[in-house]
Amino acid sequence: MRRGRRKTITPAGLLLVVVGFLALTMIVISPAMANARSLDGAGTASLENSPVTPVAPSAGDAGSTQGEAGVSTASGGGIGIPGFPVINRINCLRQCVSTTRPTRGAIIGIQGKNLERATSVVFRSKGGRIRAKIRTRSRGAVRVTVPKRATRGYVFVIDSTGNRSNRSPRELRIFPISAIPIEVFPVRGPFSFGSSGSRFGAGRPGHIHQGQDVSATCGTRLVAIRKSKVVYNQWDDGGGNYVVLRNFGSNTNFVYMHMIRRSPLRVGQVIGAGTPVGRVGNTGRSYGCHLHFEYWVGPWQTGGRPIDPLGYLRSLLDK
Ligand SMILES: [Zn+2]
Repeated sequence: MRRGRRKTITPAGLLLVVVGFLALTMIVISPAMANARSLDGAGTASLENSPVTPVAPSAGDAGSTQGEAGVSTASGGGIGIPGFPVINRINCLRQCVSTTRPTRGAIIGIQGKNLERATSVVFRSKGGRIRAKIRTRSRGAVRVTVPKRATRGYVFVIDSTGNRSNRSPRELRIFPISAIPIEVFPVRGPFSFGSSGSRFGAGRPGHIHQGQDVSATCGTRLVAIRKSKVVYNQWDDGGGNYVVLRNFGSNTNFVYMHMIRRSPLRVGQVIGAGTPVGRVGNTGRSYGCHLHFEYWVGPWQTGGRPIDPLGYLRSLLDK
C-alpha cells in the first residue's frame, strides 16, 4: 500500500491563505455587527396563541422581559449573516407551563428573521442533537413541536439550503407535562356566552363592555380558574359583589362580578384552581343572573388593560 505524499506549503501560498482568511472574516463580521444593533426591539407574543398561559411577555412581567432582552444582547443572540435564518426569541404556544416554559410535545413559536425557508429546528437530547420538522413558517416566525426526547439546551434553525441560524438567545428549558398548572372553567353549571351584547367591547351606556358575560342560573357555583391571590373582595354599585384574583406567577387578573352575595374569600388569601369564589347573582347594575368576567393584563384598574376573555374561556372547556 502506498502512503500519501506529504504536502508542502510554500511561504507565498501561506501568505495567500492568511490574507484570504482575513478578508473572509471582515465580510462575515461587519454585517453581523450591524445586524446585532437593530435587534433590541424583539417582537411580542400573541396572547390568543397561548391558551394555557395568558400573560403577554410585553405587558406581563416587565422585569423578566427586560432581563430576557439583556441576555439576548449579551449572548449575541440574533447575530446573523444577511439571508441566513435568525432566532430572536422563543415563546411557548400550546401545552405550556408558561410562555417561556414548554413541555415535551409542546408547540413553540420561534420569532426571528429570514425564516421563510426554514425546514427544521435542532434541539438537544441525551443522545445528541435531534431535528424536528417545522409545522408552519413565515418570514418572521416558525412553529415546531418540541420532540419527546428533547432536553434543556440551545436550539437553532436550519433552512432548505442548509444554512444554520444563530443559537437561541436563551437555553430552552423543557418541563414535564405535570408541571402545567391546572385550570378550571369558572362557572360550575349550565351556562351560555349569550349573544353579541354579552361580548367584550359591546356598547354600554357611557362606556364599552370590558368583559364577557356568562349567563347562568343565580346560585350556580363559581370557582377560581387558576392558582391565584385574592386582591379585592367588595361591593360596587355597578359590579355588585365582586372579587379580583391575581394569577400566580403572572401579572394577570381575573374579575368576577354581580355575585349573589359577598365572597367568603379573604383579601390576601392564596387559593388553588377550583376553590369556590362565590355564586352567580344579579347584584349591582345587572339585568339577569350572570357572571361578568374580566381578564386583565397588568393590574386591574391601575395601569393594566382588559382583553377579550372569550377565547381563553372557550379554551378551558377543551380540557
Ligand atoms: Zn358584563
